[in-house]
Amino acid sequence: MSSSPLLNELIEALRCLPGVGGKSAQRMAFHLLERERERGLKLATVLQQAMQKIGHCSRCRNFSETPVCATCASSSRDRHVLCVVESPTDLAAIEQATGYRGQYFVLMGRLSPLDGLGPEELGLGLLSERLAEGEVEELILATNPTVEGEATAHYLAQLARAAGIRPTRLAHGVPLGGELEYVDRGTLAHAFGSRQSVD
Ligand SMILES: [Zn+2]
Repeated sequence: MSSSPLLNELIEALRCLPGVGGKSAQRMAFHLLERERERGLKLATVLQQAMQKIGHCSRCRNFSETPVCATCASSSRDRHVLCVVESPTDLAAIEQATGYRGQYFVLMGRLSPLDGLGPEELGLGLLSERLAEGEVEELILATNPTVEGEATAHYLAQLARAAGIRPTRLAHGVPLGGELEYVDRGTLAHAFGSRQSVD
């Protein structure tokens, strides 16, 4: 505790960031006050604007400043393919790593009844409406290969089939350049179980 209540408040506020405990928060606060006053003020302004102005896209649920995000509004993205991801981070990873040119739907979580995350919280009503529009032909299930991610994918696959849409799942396999002995058991078991024919 310092002699400045405001400093204490700043340290406490910084602790809302992931992975930031008391000590790190204190270091950040001192750093800003000692060396980065100007950029600290800039951070405060941008933070305030972002918190107030960034909402969710009404079509894909990704973060957006406009009612419909740029990806959903883009005429150059393929509207017949819809990729479902758990988070904006996953969406960004796919955008950066692949040449995917279809559209997205962001769940902002995964089915997890114990955490109170059900179909409603994940916006599956909105997804169903989207599928019912008739444009989507393939639903790519890009949820994570965790127990909850798999359960979510299973649920979404049923939703897709009910709408007459083909669900596809990302293959989870041995990493390129990897050696079997270093691959974790779950990955190896999954890769082995989803083996495909070679010609
Ligand atoms: Zn969108």
